[in-house]
Amino acid sequence: LAKGNGGGVAVYDPSKDENTTERLLLLTQLHDALADDQLTVYYQPKCDVRSGRVVGAEALVRWQHPHRGLLGADQFIPIAETTELITQLTLVVLEQAISRTRVWLDQGRHLGVAVNLSVRHLADVRLPEQVDSLLKRYCVPPALLTLEVTENTVMTDPHRAVAVLAMLRAGGVRIAIDDYGTGYSSLAYLKRLSVDELKIDRSFITGMTSDDNDQIIVRSTIDLGHNLGLRVVAEGVEDIESWRHLQVLGCDVIQGFTVQAPLSATEFDAWLTDWESHRRE
Ligand code: C2E
Ligand code: CA
Ligand code: CA
Ligand code: CA
Repeated sequence: LAKGNGGGVAVYDPSKDENTTERLLLLTQLHDALADDQLTVYYQPKCDVRSGRVVGAEALVRWQHPHRGLLGADQFIPIAETTELITQLTLVVLEQAISRTRVWLDQGRHLGVAVNLSVRHLADVRLPEQVDSLLKRYCVPPALLTLEVTENTVMTDPHRAVAVLAMLRAGGVRIAIDDYGTGYSSLAYLKRLSVDELKIDRSFITGMTSDDNDQIIVRSTIDLGHNLGLRVVAEGVEDIESWRHLQVLGCDVIQGFTVQAPLSATEFDAWLTDWESHRRE
């Protein structure tokens, strides 16, 4: 699988351009894609920093576009987020991710799965009920599901976000703050949200072996997270040197190309079997 599927630099951002035909075309096609099962979920492993054991996976949406091939999330999520389609899209991703967790459980694998939430959906009071009914339908323990929200998603409507997240958490679902360090959250909200996990944004991780400031930020975020009783995840770990460094700093979980780029469900299962057998050698 090409690394381009994971990262990818957006050359053109149609979401910033309200009325282009390109944007409207994509929205129409996305509407059809939802009805037509063109959306698929890729999985990227999250590993214990010390042992390398896989503890779970992040679900990342892809669009098998009829003419344009496999599209990465950055190519359509920002546009979907401008409309109600993002809510439908997230429900599709949630269902695929939760049913996959069921498959893993049936294989004897106790793996968590993380799903990204957009601001619109986080403001939707139906969300906790939707999540709950999917978990029940597939008999998946709520603690295996993590919902990832960015600081900005929360800060758009903090009162409502705090309420919805509290409902979800009361149901046993875990909450992660994604892209931590890039947004406008305050420590006061972080405390009130009572989240479970902090994901340090990859922009700090990328620079940590060469930039002293990035290293200081990573180190203090790990300490802050631990002092608040949170699990700390480093995302976008691209080389073995950073992995070792994060181990020294006491980070809990790593995710990134140095372990594996996102894979389709079947590729992921094959990769996992291979990874587990190599770890035992
Ligand atoms: P994110 O939640 O921060 O996800 C991590 C992104 O970094 C993913 O891009 C992943 O493929 C990429 N990545 C992983 N490891 C590395 C690495 O070592 N180096 C680099 N450079 N990149 C790495 P992806 O899949 O294109 O997703 C982009 C963003 O789109 C996500 O950022 C997330 O905000 C959003 N997204 C993805 N799937 C969904 C979804 O199902 N629902 C919603 N609402 N948003 C989604
Ligand atoms: Ca994420
Ligand atoms: Ca992230
Ligand atoms: Ca991101």
